[in-house]
Amino acid sequence: NASRLLGKTVLLTGASSGIGAATAVLFAKGGANVILIARRAEALAKVADACTAAHKASGLQQGGRFAPVQLDVSDRQQIANLWNIVPQDLRDVDILVNNAGYVLGVEHVGDISEADIEGMFATNVFGLIAMTQLLVKDFKKKQSGHVINLGSIAGREPYAGGSIYTATKHAVNAFTGSLLRELVNTPIRVTEIQPGMVETEFSIVRYRGDESAAKKVYQGLDPLTAEDIAEEIVWAASRPPHVNIAEVLVFPVNQA
Ligand code: NDP
Repeated sequence: NASRLLGKTVLLTGASSGIGAATAVLFAKGGANVILIARRAEALAKVADACTAAHKASGLQQGGRFAPVQLDVSDRQQIANLWNIVPQDLRDVDILVNNAGYVLGVEHVGDISEADIEGMFATNVFGLIAMTQLLVKDFKKKQSGHVINLGSIAGREPYAGGSIYTATKHAVNAFTGSLLRELVNTPIRVTEIQPGMVETEFSIVRYRGDESAAKKVYQGLDPLTAEDIAEEIVWAASRPPHVNIAEVLVFPVNQA
C-alpha cells in the first residue's frame, strides 16, 4: 500500500543514475521525501528535478522534498559530516537505501590492481556498513526504521572475472543477514534486494567507459530495467510494519 510512504524520508545512496535514480522517482511518486546521495552533483540535480516533476504529477500533498547531497560513501570523513550537509528538516530518516556500488574490470585475480580492490570494498562494503551504522543508531533511538541493501546475484554465486565484486556482494549478504538477526524483536526492518542483470551505467563502469563493450553484455538478453528493481525496493518499503521482506532475488526471464 503506497500510502505507507506518505511523508516518509528516504536516504538513498547511488541516486545519480540507474537503479538509484529510478528508485528516487518512484519514492517521489509515492509521497516520500528523498535525500539523494552520490558523487556527481549535476546528475543528482537532474534526478532531483525528475523527482519534483513526479511528485507534482502525483497530486499528493505529503512529501516532495528532494535534497541532492554530494557525498562519496567510500570516504569515512564525509560520512561523519553527513548531518552537517543534509537539510535540517530531512534529518529524521525513516528508510535507508544502500544502493551505491560498482564493479570495475573483468580481470584475472593476479591482474587486479590494489587500487581497484580497495575501491570496490571501500564503496560496496565499508561505505554501506558506515552508512548503516550511522542510521541504525537513530533507528534504535526512535524504534522504527528500515535498512534496504542492494546485494546481487553476485552475492550468492561467484563468477570468473568477478572475484572482487562477488566478494564485496557476498560481504553485503553476510552483513545484511547478520543485521537482520541482530534486530529481530525490534520494529526495525532489514531487506536485501539481489538483482540479476539490469541495464544501467553499471556495465559502462565495469568496462571503464567502453560503451560498446558494455552493450554486448546485454545482447541476446532482455535485461531488467532500473525501474524493475526500483519497484521491488519501494514494494519492500511499503509493506505493513509487521512484515519484513528479508530477501528479494530478481532475474530477467532469460537469465538462470
Ligand atoms: P549505476 O552505475 O547506474 O549506479 C551506481 C550508483 O552508485 C551511481 O549513482 C553512482 O553515482 C553511485 N556511486 C558509486 N560509487 C559511489 C561512491 N563512492 N559514493 C557515492 N555514490 C557512489 O549502476 P546500478 O544502478 O546498476 O547499480 C546500483 C546497485 O545495484 C549497485 O550496488 C550494484 O552493485 C547493484 N546491482 C546492479 C546490477 C546490474 O546488473 N546493474 C546487478 C546486481 C546488483 P556517482 O558516480 O555519481 O557517485
